[in-house]
Amino acid sequence: MFVVFLGPPGAGKGTQAARLVETLKIAHLSTGELLRSEIANATELGRQANEFIQKGELVPDDLVVNLVSTQFDLPELAPGCLLDGFPRTLGQAQALDQELAKRSNRIRAAVEIQVEQHELERRLMSRKRDDDNWETIRQRFREYQEETVPLRDYYRKQGLLRQVDGAGSQDEVFDRILAAIQESS
Ligand code: AMP
Repeated sequence: MFVVFLGPPGAGKGTQAARLVETLKIAHLSTGELLRSEIANATELGRQANEFIQKGELVPDDLVVNLVSTQFDLPELAPGCLLDGFPRTLGQAQALDQELAKRSNRIRAAVEIQVEQHELERRLMSRKRDDDNWETIRQRFREYQEETVPLRDYYRKQGLLRQVDGAGSQDEVFDRILAAIQESS
């Protein structure tokens, strides 16, 4: 089972993803985490990616798609995974479909967590990540609007989009997401 997780910065994708993979017994693939670990290990990819991340910009598709395709070769990903923060552009979404088709697989659902703008800003400002300063956050919202929001239509046309209300407690949101995925067989 391959599930795509969409949602603006601060929507709670990471937190919910961590719980979902435990329940669904699938792997968790977060491109943000993978990129941060490349940076921590001071790899060439990490160095290149960091320039974009620090500005709140998206890392170019070719770098991210390469990173994800190497992960798809890992046996623990074969039964499925939750894709957290990938795809974020149409190019990435198309590349993902091709990767999955090669493996005779497809996406089960694309879950979008929806949260009001002022709540997103409040959450992001109370978080303590390197790239969480005001300028960067604004840029990440812009990128989300321009590059990632078009994925809604991409997945809607395929009947895969599930929009979930991200307001309320973590437990409430979790139950909504789980129900949305379980309805998608
Ligand atoms: P995240 O942890 O998902 O919020 O990602 C943190 C940062 O990593 C983003 O602001 C982007 O700069 C970069 N990033 C993560 N995933 C992607 C992706 N799929 N495409 C491009 N850039 C990404």
